[in-house]
Amino acid sequence: MCGIVGYIGNKKATPILINGLLSLEYRGYDSAGIAVIENNEICVLKDKGRVANLRKIPEIDTLESSIGIAHTRWATHGKPSKENSHPHLDNSKQFAVVHNGIIENYNELKEFLCSKGYKFLSQTDTEVIPNLIHYYYTNGISDDDKFLRAVKSAIDDLKGSYAIEVISNLYPDRVIVVRKDSPLVIGTSKEENFISSDIPAILSYTKNFYLLDDYEYAVVYNDHIQFFDNSLIEHSKAIKSIEWDATAAEKNGYEDYMLKEIYEQPNSIRETIGTRFKLGEKCCFDDIDINKEYLKTVNKIYIVACGTAMHAGLVGKVAIEKLCNIPTGVDIASEFRYRNPIIDENTLCIFISQSGETADTIAALKLAKEKKAKTIAISNVIGSSITRVADYTIYTHAGPEIAVASTKAYTSQIILLVILAMYFAENLESCKKDVLDNLKVDILDLPSKIEAVLNEINGIKEFANKIYTEKDMYFLGRGNDYYVAMEGSLKLKEISYIHSEAYASGELKHGPIALIENDVTVIGILTDSNLVDKSISNIQEVVSRGAKTLVITNQRLTNNNFDFIINVPETNNLISPVLSVIPLQLLAYYISKNKGLDVDKPRNLAKSVTVE
Ligand code: GLU
Repeated sequence: MCGIVGYIGNKKATPILINGLLSLEYRGYDSAGIAVIENNEICVLKDKGRVANLRKIPEIDTLESSIGIAHTRWATHGKPSKENSHPHLDNSKQFAVVHNGIIENYNELKEFLCSKGYKFLSQTDTEVIPNLIHYYYTNGISDDDKFLRAVKSAIDDLKGSYAIEVISNLYPDRVIVVRKDSPLVIGTSKEENFISSDIPAILSYTKNFYLLDDYEYAVVYNDHIQFFDNSLIEHSKAIKSIEWDATAAEKNGYEDYMLKEIYEQPNSIRETIGTRFKLGEKCCFDDIDINKEYLKTVNKIYIVACGTAMHAGLVGKVAIEKLCNIPTGVDIASEFRYRNPIIDENTLCIFISQSGETADTIAALKLAKEKKAKTIAISNVIGSSITRVADYTIYTHAGPEIAVASTKAYTSQIILLVILAMYFAENLESCKKDVLDNLKVDILDLPSKIEAVLNEINGIKEFANKIYTEKDMYFLGRGNDYYVAMEGSLKLKEISYIHSEAYASGELKHGPIALIENDVTVIGILTDSNLVDKSISNIQEVVSRGAKTLVITNQRLTNNNFDFIINVPETNNLISPVLSVIPLQLLAYYISKNKGLDVDKPRNLAKSVTVE
């Protein structure tokens, strides 16, 4: 999920690889490494930490090679460490691989390779790839194009997402690359070619690019490139000239990281689902030792987090209570830690932190452990502090989130919690199988439904243009719609500095309706078919007091007098926040842009809150 760079040409590869890695640093990473072919052998230099550390390795200045591959890692399997850093070599040290993405079936492949005598030096999923290449290379591949065929046979065995570069000292004149669901581009110039996971790393060398498609192979030489389809039939490919400047390129053409991350949600949700379940099969959490016997003893669950992660926790609570019938409370970490919560060995506590460094959440986790609760951390950052304290950690795999206001991490946290709830329910047999089967279908449909929402944003832009000068706004909803209202209101505050409040619709008459007067903006979320009539009545109450209204709904609303309606696709109510939050993320974004604010770095806020 992080960065790849490659070079083959007539210059020294190492400085180009290092520069490329430096310009990918904005993506966030935990380790870095390079491999070049030096005196007919593959030379690998790698370590955890910054790219700058690589530069300090004395050997690096002695490398003369003009072919190499490089990587910045965002760990998904195995903690950040030297052994787990890429590139990875096969046992014979003839093939070096860098990989971005996740190999979902690596355990199976590792077992197979171990049975053939291969040894593994890292905990990564990636290390199976060079060894599989070696296995096929030495087992029955015909002589023509042996290297490419061996790579292709290895790739055919992989399930998951990948952008991969391979070099071999047996073929020092070429780099083989292939991708699926992880980005990879090839920049071309006279007598030299460049490879990267995205354009900025190599934009200073060339403006001419080939954008590799899923399952497409490229064999890159210094003076030409061959492209092959998934059956290894060669084809020609058109060059694309890129006119972006380097800053626009870092954001992959998006104006801001936040917008890029909003648009990454179909893919981040796919990665979160990963191998957690397949249709017709049970959910799988091999990484946590939580079984039926233990779950039967749990009489209470606490979900503890701060800010957006706490809002994800609220949606998780609804799923756990509905599917597992276990009372579940959601707490703000800074409150939880000081309120002497009632916890014992029959309490399960779940702590959510995107960065894994949130001080209050970590302190709350330590408290729960002292009181003998079992603890699970949900984080997006492998090896982060929270993961070292919790009994178990499960990762969202949403990919690095750079913008301060969280978007894709929130939707991934929700989906992970709902899948966890399904896993508990399957163990406890607390829910009918067909209910869970239907929910699984709906979860798997989410990425395409998110795409549909992202393809229809004109209404949101128009509404943002109309209201961006407002001073106050109100968000209303019931059930999960209320929890989305809270998140929409927080996004707006964070990046547009407009005062806003979220209320459970039923609370309107208990106070806030006193604030409704002519032209006040009220945003209603209506996606729960069981509650929609009641919610409509509440919004009618504000309409009749002169409010301007935006309604986000998956229901067919007839006879209404709302000013704006944004439709989102229907889905199971337990996961509807993943769709209904997207217009709210975009609304906050476009209001902030209209006001000329810094969307990615809002005033006074930090990405990870490491102090109390
Ligand atoms: N899954 C691989 C690992 O954990 C690659 C991670 C990445 O994309 O950086 O090493």
